[in-house]
Amino acid sequence: MPRIVRVAVPVPLPRLFDYRLADGSSMPSVGCRVRVPFSGRDLVGIVLACDSRSDLADDQLKPVSEILDAQPLLTSELIATLEWASRYYQHGVGEVFDTALPALLRGGRELPQAGVAGIALSPTGRQECAQTPPRAGTRVRALVECLEAGSVATAALDQNLPGWRASARSLRSRGWLEDVRLQGAIVGDCPVAAPALNEEQQAAVDAVVSGVGGFAPFLLDGVTGSGKTEVYLAAIGEVIARGQQALVLVPEIALTPQTTRRFRERLGFDIAILHSGLSERERGVAWLSAARGEARVVLGTRSAIFVPLPKPGLIVVDEEHDISYKQQDGFRYHARDLAVFRARSLGVPLVLGSATPSLESLANAQSRRYRLLRLSRRAGVARPPSLEIMDLRNKRLDQGLAISSLSAIEACVGRGEQALVFRNRRGYAPVLFCHACGWSAECQRCDRPLTLHRGVARLRCHHCGSEARVPATCPACASTTLAPQGQGTERLEEVLQQRFPGTPVVRVDRDSTRSRSGREEVLERLDVPGPRILVGTQMLAKGHDLANLTLVVVTGVDQGLYSVDFRAGERLGQLIVQVSGRAGRAERPGAVILQTHHPEHPLLHALIGGGYAALARGLLNERRQAGLPPFATFSLLRAEAREQADVTAFLKIAVEFARASAPDITAHGPLPAPMPRRAGYQRSQVLIESIERSTMQAFLPEWLGQLRKRKEARKVRWSIDVDPVEMG
Ligand code: ADP
Ligand code: ZN
Ligand code: ZN
Repeated sequence: MPRIVRVAVPVPLPRLFDYRLADGSSMPSVGCRVRVPFSGRDLVGIVLACDSRSDLADDQLKPVSEILDAQPLLTSELIATLEWASRYYQHGVGEVFDTALPALLRGGRELPQAGVAGIALSPTGRQECAQTPPRAGTRVRALVECLEAGSVATAALDQNLPGWRASARSLRSRGWLEDVRLQGAIVGDCPVAAPALNEEQQAAVDAVVSGVGGFAPFLLDGVTGSGKTEVYLAAIGEVIARGQQALVLVPEIALTPQTTRRFRERLGFDIAILHSGLSERERGVAWLSAARGEARVVLGTRSAIFVPLPKPGLIVVDEEHDISYKQQDGFRYHARDLAVFRARSLGVPLVLGSATPSLESLANAQSRRYRLLRLSRRAGVARPPSLEIMDLRNKRLDQGLAISSLSAIEACVGRGEQALVFRNRRGYAPVLFCHACGWSAECQRCDRPLTLHRGVARLRCHHCGSEARVPATCPACASTTLAPQGQGTERLEEVLQQRFPGTPVVRVDRDSTRSRSGREEVLERLDVPGPRILVGTQMLAKGHDLANLTLVVVTGVDQGLYSVDFRAGERLGQLIVQVSGRAGRAERPGAVILQTHHPEHPLLHALIGGGYAALARGLLNERRQAGLPPFATFSLLRAEAREQADVTAFLKIAVEFARASAPDITAHGPLPAPMPRRAGYQRSQVLIESIERSTMQAFLPEWLGQLRKRKEARKVRWSIDVDPVEMG
């Protein structure tokens, strides 16, 4: 009788593949990795089922080349979650498993060792340093003194002896050091004490802790600086005291060294960190330490939602409204929504925290699916910042900044404090324009203006990444009157530095923080005490804690007020509140200036009058009346090709199928995408709408199955996005 395994293979096909086991090899468990041949290649897949029968004839079954794990790498819960996610998001099961596994394990190499990385003095090191100890007072001496007591985790050295790596290199060259693996390493001598929680914080912790042991979803709605993180930490403390694991998700840019340090210091032991800035090896090791149940706390970004948790206790999603939780290409999952699913199947409490909860989560709180926990005041002595609308109509502007905004900045830095100027556009200027003939620099592949980047002297397309040199004269009329129009962060940095020559101006955007050294330099400059002006994009809305920041000037508000995306109002409100929340986090009060040409806009009024809560209430009512999510569910079918006719032909069939097959489904389109052309491709889409999620879920597989069979589908690149957060 043949012995068959069904394998999730990392290829973009929505099915499993059968392989037979070679004679004499033992049956692998479900959840183990196997190496299998696939159209001439050698791929690593995961065993999802074992069987004695296959639909394929015996001679068509290829043998498994190698069984890579003796024990399953994935828990049965995680396997079930991924299979569910593959169905829910209509994405091939092989690619779903491929996304969930860290690259290190996907390669099929041997697994790294257990425990955390550490170093110790080698026998030679011990001997020689007893005879000739390094000079007193040096860093090398400090490191040796640390190690004389025994081996130390590298994470602990990061924490307690910054700059130790250079000293380690010099000791290593003398043969004094050796690498070791430590179990459950202690980072600090003792955890840093927690502040005494206030009443609201305590009530929140009590509620979460009373839910431990079963599924219990909470929405922790707490203004910025109200001490949500302290609530997470206290609840985590309870969970690990019971020998269980906690998983904490944070948005990519919020996972700074500061955050990591805070968790490590307060918990007093090493935690597993997972984010895209780590090496493959570091991520693989962190993932495995969670999978082996060694890591008691895992702190990570979006993809950390896929760590196995053999001893689950609690899941936390901080800044749950953040759109970086949605993967925007390939397997388009939403980590927050998967967190809800996982918490339910694991039977653990889930805390979704935010100062600006998504309308989805607020609706769930209103309908009592989530229990609402509120932190209404800032913790400690900090007060909420005051919000002021600056009417720009008929006002003189200096490079997009009102004169009164500039005076406020001047007064702020004059008091020795820090000011933040928010501008959600990087580069020098969004347009390079010819005053003689009206020409402007455009991307040939996207039909959108190219952004001028002056520092690197390039024109760059922010949509497709293509670049051009900056012309000296107008390509249309040869005039020399080319001028940058509008302001990006780079230009504001220049303007503010000229205007305030004695005050350091620090720019924080994707350009200034792209490289590791750039990032480190920016972080260093942010930590120097004294007056300072920060200029930046939404990267400044969260992340690094900025002390002594008392003024925030928000520019570019108007671009968000009149957008076609139905989520624009929610996004703008969240952004304004989050950026504003950076001000006045310590003793001194903060002020926020919103520059706008539309001071009467209802969104701004709601925000000033009743804060985010009032705005969100209004927006939710609008969504209910208009039948928009969260009161309906959407799926977006996107298609692109060189020829518009191919795109239209495919999407027309899609609409016909939808209209013919499902009465409870509405299909809109084909519609041009918000960017109808990108990177040389013509782009359109079809929006599918239903009231009930179950209707959508029943419809999609049938519909996509029909589409896949059509020859028109092979002429376009297409994808389905279930619960899209971007409508383009
Ligand atoms: P959030 O996560 O809601 O933005 P944090 O947990 O970061 O807020 O807390 C904001 C600041 O207030 C931090 O510096 C924190 O140490 C401090 N803090 C939090 N809770 C308390 C408390 N109960 N007493 C004193 N300080 C607190
Ligand atoms: Zn011209
Ligand atoms: Zn382009």
